[in-house]
Amino acid sequence: MKKQKKTFILDIEPKQLYSELKPFVAEKYKIDQIIQWIYQKKVLDFNNFTNISKELRGNLSSSFVLRTFTNIKKDESILDGTVRYTFRTYDNKYIYAVCLPNENKKTVCISTQVGCPVSCNFCLSGKMKFVRNLSRGEILEEILYIESDIRERISGVLFMGMGEPMLNYANLKSVIKTLISKKEMNIGKRHITVSSVGVIPGIKSLADEMFGVRFALSLHATDDKQRKKIIPNNFDAKISDLLDACKYYLKKTKSKVTIEYILLKDFNDTSSDAHRLARLMKAHNLINPDVQVNLIPYNETNSFDYKTPAQIAILTFKKILKVSGITVNIREPKGLDIGAACGQLGKVNL
Ligand code: SAH
Repeated sequence: MKKQKKTFILDIEPKQLYSELKPFVAEKYKIDQIIQWIYQKKVLDFNNFTNISKELRGNLSSSFVLRTFTNIKKDESILDGTVRYTFRTYDNKYIYAVCLPNENKKTVCISTQVGCPVSCNFCLSGKMKFVRNLSRGEILEEILYIESDIRERISGVLFMGMGEPMLNYANLKSVIKTLISKKEMNIGKRHITVSSVGVIPGIKSLADEMFGVRFALSLHATDDKQRKKIIPNNFDAKISDLLDACKYYLKKTKSKVTIEYILLKDFNDTSSDAHRLARLMKAHNLINPDVQVNLIPYNETNSFDYKTPAQIAILTFKKILKVSGITVNIREPKGLDIGAACGQLGKVNL
């Protein structure tokens, strides 16, 4: 394994930079300038930090690196302008991030792990062997690289790429702090969404830390047996406990919760499933404007036999939820032609 000799500066929390950089810089305002160059101006080359001395730039370059990804590849969808970025990590693994254009804004969907240890049996990311967590710096590098590439501030971040964010909680937390800090990336917390397969202690911690970001639960089923079939590694979480965790999240954060529901033909797409989902949400007091159900018609891949339901089944499912008073939305797949849609981030497209 190739080792990095220099320290990756994005791995260091900005507040620690004041002590880490002391050997090179005595003045606090100069460290503030460095933080601005990185997190506000998204400049990923010390040589371009023009308002600091050449000597300091040289010192920074000899001890730290600002980037670790190489062999960066971009694929752009001709269908909707979605861009999928493939990054090679320092240890020669590949990860993905997606930039989603939405009207005049751009949102990024980022990975938190190399591969995914949960291995839901419909998701390509889970088919990749799990290798390791991404570091704080690597997760931020995905975002900062995209921002410097598009020369535009992104308006939102979705933790919905490869990996299970709650299993990399310490780094997730450190990244969120940087994203929402006014002195750092200054992204509104309502524009950040963390999606989880349902790791209850993680959901509770995220609620307790009071970041107030949005939370999305990958529910995908209406009874525990059915859910276990598609999510065998379900951390022994019962659907009713997961919905209670959503309730807890709402109460603690006053933020919004999304329930994600993949529609798999002839598996979980019947009218009875829709009615059962509505009943479950009612029983858990989750029918209110702060909770939205996102129906995700399955994006087919060659690796699994699941099929996308017929349009009529999708619309009927939606209608049943709607008449029950649930806010419901059908998620349109983005970047289908470049393997950038939900569940497609698994193959190396080099
Ligand atoms: N591990 C987290 C973050 C990944 S989010 C989680 O499970 O929430 C990615 C979303 O895409 C999840 O809701 C996942 O279940 C969904 N997904 C996976 N494969 C899919 C596919 N082929 N079609 C549509 N959605 C898929």
